[in-house]
Amino acid sequence: MIGKMAATGERKFQGASSEVVRDINRRIVLNLIRTRHPISRADLARVSGLQRSTVSLIVEQLIQENWVIEGPTGRLPRGRRPTFLRLNDERVIIAVDIRPTQTTVALADANGKFISQEILATASNPEVALAALIGSIERLIRSSRHKKIEGVGISLPGRYDHNIDRLVFAPNLRWHEIDIRNPIVQATGLEVEVENAANACVLAAVWFDRMEDCRNLVVVTVSEGIGTGVWANGALVRGQNGMAGEFGHVPLDPKGPPCGCGGRGCWEVFGSNRAALRYYFESGSESTDLTFLDLLSRAEHGDKRAAKALETMAHYLGRGMRMVVAGLAPERIILVGEFTRAWHRFGAIIESEVRDQVLPGGSVPHLIPAYEDGMARLRGTVALVMQKDFGTVG
Ligand SMILES: [Zn+2]
Repeated sequence: MIGKMAATGERKFQGASSEVVRDINRRIVLNLIRTRHPISRADLARVSGLQRSTVSLIVEQLIQENWVIEGPTGRLPRGRRPTFLRLNDERVIIAVDIRPTQTTVALADANGKFISQEILATASNPEVALAALIGSIERLIRSSRHKKIEGVGISLPGRYDHNIDRLVFAPNLRWHEIDIRNPIVQATGLEVEVENAANACVLAAVWFDRMEDCRNLVVVTVSEGIGTGVWANGALVRGQNGMAGEFGHVPLDPKGPPCGCGGRGCWEVFGSNRAALRYYFESGSESTDLTFLDLLSRAEHGDKRAAKALETMAHYLGRGMRMVVAGLAPERIILVGEFTRAWHRFGAIIESEVRDQVLPGGSVPHLIPAYEDGMARLRGTVALVMQKDFGTVG
């Protein structure tokens, strides 16, 4: 459909805009190879609606630029043997996921396959953490000398203002305002893209999980805090200073417990992993060095107080999600976090909390638990770097 529009556009905009049309067609072909590989030139023409000669021209250019490689040869009836195309996996991206306790530095190819990864402890001092991160990136660069590195994508548990290149809001990381991008650019000579963790998950969903047909999508990430990434009308919403999507810091109870943001009773104070641990301790548990995964496991082994703490967290997650549904009317909400491993404890409660408050005329969004292994943010950073060449889908 998009292809057909572009093909018509080629006739319509001949002359001054032909360069723009060429660029659009190139992105269409590149994205089709990315999502449907291995694919033949004939199928590219059929799916895109572009002329066979236009497709061949673009493909030759992409092969010359080392974006696309040929092979293997397919077998079709009547003796035809088309050559299949796929992205060149010698083009790689350095993917970084900074979390309050640990930082993952990984190498991924253009097809989104991860080749290697290193895990560092996240220092509480941002300058120290940045120096360690640069060291790790430099090691990766040295070990991938025969590959073409497209750039570095970084996911952060906070909001990054792209206008002034500063991490401006990261209550769970507790770093002061800092430029994360330029020191890495200067040390490595690579292009660096920085994005909020929830936004990175949105890009991962749209880019790799084939959700590009969904125009209104929200990702809610639940860990130490609650982050929200918003995809509205087919585009990522960043807002002024990159601060859009902070539903996690809207108070559900202004008299509630203090929050890392300086406020009180924010959604994340009631619905995050930390909140569940607090409910558990408040109900009389002695052990204080428990992790959220320990809590999940205790609940599975019959600890009733652990199960109750998770149930309370689930109710608050659902209540907070009403803001998201009322404010954005998304078609889908993707939930990311360790809690999705116990979806049987959370799903029904969250859904009923949301359903109870849907406005007349509104509809209940499809709730999708992402059974993630911690890779969604990393995959999002790959999309972040790649979309410079491929264009944002949607
Ligand atoms: Zn807050």
